[in-house]
Amino acid sequence: MDVIAPEGSTVTQTPDTGFSGSGGASSAVWPDASELVYDDGVKARVDHLYTRVKDVVTPMEWPQFAPVIDAILRLKEERGATILAHNYMTPEIFNCVGDITGDSLKLAQVAAEAEEDVIVQAGVHFMAETAKILSPEKTVLIPDMEAGCSLASSITGADVQRIKAAYPDYPIVTYVNTSAEVKAYSDICCTSSNAVQVVEAVAQQWDTDTVIMIPDEYLAKNVAAQTGIKILTWKGSCEVHEQFTPEDIDDLRAAHPDAVILTHPECPPDVMARADFAGSTGAMAAYVKDKAPSKAILITECSMSDNVSVENPDTVFVKPCNLCPHMKRITLTGIYEALRDMKHEVEVDPVIAQKARASLQAMLDLPKPDAPPHFDTGRDIINVPYVSV
Ligand code: SF4
Repeated sequence: MDVIAPEGSTVTQTPDTGFSGSGGASSAVWPDASELVYDDGVKARVDHLYTRVKDVVTPMEWPQFAPVIDAILRLKEERGATILAHNYMTPEIFNCVGDITGDSLKLAQVAAEAEEDVIVQAGVHFMAETAKILSPEKTVLIPDMEAGCSLASSITGADVQRIKAAYPDYPIVTYVNTSAEVKAYSDICCTSSNAVQVVEAVAQQWDTDTVIMIPDEYLAKNVAAQTGIKILTWKGSCEVHEQFTPEDIDDLRAAHPDAVILTHPECPPDVMARADFAGSTGAMAAYVKDKAPSKAILITECSMSDNVSVENPDTVFVKPCNLCPHMKRITLTGIYEALRDMKHEVEVDPVIAQKARASLQAMLDLPKPDAPPHFDTGRDIINVPYVSV
């Protein structure tokens, strides 16, 4: 079948080889995503992936997804790229095109070790910046430059400089959900997976009983409940996790008394206190895999339940659904177009990157736990003051 590519080049589609032709930078001319068709060649190459996602992707959706998945997989080979997919990606991205999947700590570590020259970050902008900081020689693409984060936009590098000037004796622990500039002016980074470990380690290194932890006030409060270290924080929050209330947990427990309830530490402390388990998305996934509960409720972003359910078909998931609008900007079409055109490249100022790398490396240099650490639930809620600058 002959079709006209957007650039005006005529290309030929065959069932076995897909699109081929001339007029592009690569060996194939890749059309607009809407022109990719679900033909016999696509079926032969990618329909086996449908068995993996059949419980979370409908048979009506698959013919739309399959040709784009096929094109991404072939373009990925052509470009020498790897795709990092966060746990909050939709299931067709997470399960069908992600090479490395997981929480932000795992993706940060893998970004540093990846052999491929091109990284596509299927996640939000701060994650792509982290990949670029740790792998400055690689090309890092993000499918949508506007994929932000309410935590990352709550604080600037200038804010951190003011905090540092006001509290020179206290180390600044910065959540990875921040810009490169914020990381650059901080002493060490943390993720929701290792936050308690980082706070305790840095307090010991600085010989202090007080640590500044920014920008997520709820993560800071939840960490304070786990440790004797005093914490000062910043008034930032995740717009997805802050929406959950203690009443939500009570209602879910009343409706599903046989379910185990797992929360993310970006939730308010009175939500986490009522849960059965709390930890990063990686810790939640590991819990479900290890314990194999008959029913589970994940108090976090919507897509997480879908992705964990693919690996754990014997667990029934009740799905309270708070969507992250930033994560949902990442689509199969966006990934395809980023790879096709090698566009939306993420750059970080080299001086800022060098300083931010030191903060990230300080975190990555800490001993790695054997299993993802978790938070104890049911702890007293600690009053954590804000920094005053
Ligand atoms: S889920 Fe929350 S923390 Fe994660 S990207 Fe969205 S707004 Fe940011």
